[in-house]
Amino acid sequence: QKAEWEKLKNERTLSKDGVHFDLAANIGTPDDLQGVLDNGGEAIGLFRSEFLYMNASELPSEDDQFEAYKKVVEGMNGKQVVVRTMDIGGDKELPYLPLPEEMNPFLGYRAIRISLDRTDLFRTQLRALLRASAFGNLAIMFPMIATVAEFKKARAIYDDERQKMIDAGSKVGDIQVGMMMEIPAAAMIADKLAKYVDFFSIGTNDLIQYSFAADRGNEKVAYLYQPYNPSLLRLIKQTIDASHAEGKWTGMCGEMAGDQIAVPILMGLGLDEFSMSATSILKTRALMKRLTTDDMKKLAEKAVTEAETNEDVIKLVKETVNND
Ligand code: PEP
Ligand code: MG
Repeated sequence: QKAEWEKLKNERTLSKDGVHFDLAANIGTPDDLQGVLDNGGEAIGLFRSEFLYMNASELPSEDDQFEAYKKVVEGMNGKQVVVRTMDIGGDKELPYLPLPEEMNPFLGYRAIRISLDRTDLFRTQLRALLRASAFGNLAIMFPMIATVAEFKKARAIYDDERQKMIDAGSKVGDIQVGMMMEIPAAAMIADKLAKYVDFFSIGTNDLIQYSFAADRGNEKVAYLYQPYNPSLLRLIKQTIDASHAEGKWTGMCGEMAGDQIAVPILMGLGLDEFSMSATSILKTRALMKRLTTDDMKKLAEKAVTEAETNEDVIKLVKETVNND
């Protein structure tokens, strides 16, 4: 089977009826790039920029960040690289940036909330990204956006840095600016947010945690990690539909994007880009090749409207698709 998958390495990802889906990879450092190329990744759908902050004894300089982003966009040779701005906080701490002790760190000061407060750090990162954009196909997304106002604020700071750079005569690329969809309140107003973003990327690890009010790292409540529950599928459907209504696209970069039970449903819901660990790409490409979008639309419709539980949906998928 591995040998069969290997043959798909240089193919585009097509369903049985010839519809293209982007199969992208999640990476954590520039060292992960080779794995993406070896596994036929069509893009990088999530470059977690935290490593720059975590593997350091002080705040990373603009130049250090620039070099890391440049290396990845150049290495991808014109294929899109979506860099997520700093997602520190929650369970990720920095020794040199003391964060307040919190009762509920996952509900507290993290990600874009820090960036909008510490705009000095945010602006440094944005400048590094803008400079790197001249060397390839770079996109930016903001983590943990909850409201329209947050997105507008983040985008205004980005626009300001971009303008300054252009005024200074520097070359900057065409950058798409999107947001991660990981908070249920944001998914509920996806139609409003879709007017301002260039794309959504659904972060299901957090979207599930916040939807079910169940800590993603706590084994006692792990049964509430329910990616196929119709409640979650409805939030996903709403997000995808809202983006399409505005002519935008939606990707997914949580674990769910490479889950072989979820993939058929997500195809049926019209997800445009699937971003996963590089080692899942070829088997997912092989799975998609066997499925037609018409059948998957019917499956997704049933999962969203008829199913009551996570288990109902697993059963539906297994009846429709011979997953091995
Ligand atoms: C997510 O929340 O699904 C996601 C991709 O981000 P992270 O896992 O880094 O929080
Ligand atoms: Mg997340």
